[in-house]
Amino acid sequence: MKLCFATNNKGKLQEIKALLADTIELVSLQEIGCYEELPETKDTLEGNSLQKAAYIWEHFGINCFADDSGLEVEVLNGAPGVYSARYAGPACKAEDNMDLLLKNLLGYTNRAASFRTCITLMLEGQTFQFEGKVKGEILYARQGAKGFGYDPIFRPEGFEQSFAEMTLEEKNKISHRAKAVTLLTEFLHKRVDRL
Ligand code: IMP
Repeated sequence: MKLCFATNNKGKLQEIKALLADTIELVSLQEIGCYEELPETKDTLEGNSLQKAAYIWEHFGINCFADDSGLEVEVLNGAPGVYSARYAGPACKAEDNMDLLLKNLLGYTNRAASFRTCITLMLEGQTFQFEGKVKGEILYARQGAKGFGYDPIFRPEGFEQSFAEMTLEEKNKISHRAKAVTLLTEFLHKRVDRL
């Protein structure tokens, strides 16, 4: 079965390719001839991942899935959430996002937060969603230099280190994305023989 992962992130594509059985041929957006920017205008992770996957299904008629992730902070009512990438503005860097989040949390002792990933799969026009979540807390200052995004200020529950102090292998064992991807691959491996 041919399956498109609606992302332009080569790292994510390779990561998932390695987890999928050979019976599933994972293809990129370029490989299906999609060079346009995918719409991503909804205000939830579920909405955005569905919007991207539905776009591919409607315009290219290919089975596909899309993901969307974000950091949800309890005392900020789930912000930055779906706006995590551009929390400090449309052209901001990860450093600016972390600075703004630390500033908005000044004076708060409740630092509870979760990273969440939503994957939407469109299979023969039917929609399936998978959620991966990792609970933790926002640190008072950056710790570690690995990873990306908010990794230096997020410490997962039950760990002493921030995400940015973990190796990619350690992070991938517990991350929100890894959990959602595991649910997706388990589902696909059960379904693929029947397609
Ligand atoms: P995306 O949907 O995977 O592109 O994630 C959107 C944004 O959420 C990223 O640009 C980051 O700011 C943040 N984010 C998602 N996953 C992670 C993670 O594992 N570590 C740190 N930041 C993340």
